[in-house]
Amino acid sequence: MNMLKQAILQKGVVLSDGVLKVDSFLNHQIDPTLQVDIGNEFAKRFDEVEITKILTIESSGIAPALTTAIQLKVPVVFARKKKSLTLSSNLLTAQVYSFTKKETNEITVSRDFILEGDKVLIIDDFLANGEAALGLASLVEQARATVSGIGIVIEKSFQPGREKLQNAGYRVESLARIASLENNTVRFVEQLVTNN
Ligand code: 5GP
Repeated sequence: MNMLKQAILQKGVVLSDGVLKVDSFLNHQIDPTLQVDIGNEFAKRFDEVEITKILTIESSGIAPALTTAIQLKVPVVFARKKKSLTLSSNLLTAQVYSFTKKETNEITVSRDFILEGDKVLIIDDFLANGEAALGLASLVEQARATVSGIGIVIEKSFQPGREKLQNAGYRVESLARIASLENNTVRFVEQLVTNN
């Protein structure tokens, strides 16, 4: 995933020790070539796993979910953060506390699109405290479907998300794992391992 790591190093902006801004290529302006690369990598990593559907959350998860879905030839469903007027009944819901917005959203998905027996790959742009991914996993479990795995574009490994998801029994694949954002510098987990 060199393209992703290069983009993070060259275009990412460290806002604080805890927050990385990637608005110029991932979650405001979108780099389509990078998104295709991300989709190919997720498809490769989950190659041997049965997947019937991809679930993500609006809005930044949709692009990587879509490029992965094109490779895996399965539909994408995205959870909504605000209730749609046309999506008023027959809903799966979960409460998700947002790390960046510091507010709780009720996320919803129509029961028509996550069905009993579905094998669901969850995709999201960031992993921090694991709230969004756990909320999505809860929607899957409520539908009596199975979580096939969780794919994350950027994991902040200094926050507890990965541990929480693994403790809950889920396989987590993150394409870029950030060990630290201290001193305005992005350090990847692999970098630390190599330096030691
Ligand atoms: P979690 O639910 O794991 O605590 O946080 C994941 C969600 O918060 C992601 O969907 C993402 O939108 C947002 N998020 C968490 N940390 C960051 C960050 O450092 N930068 C950006 N841009 N978004 C983040």
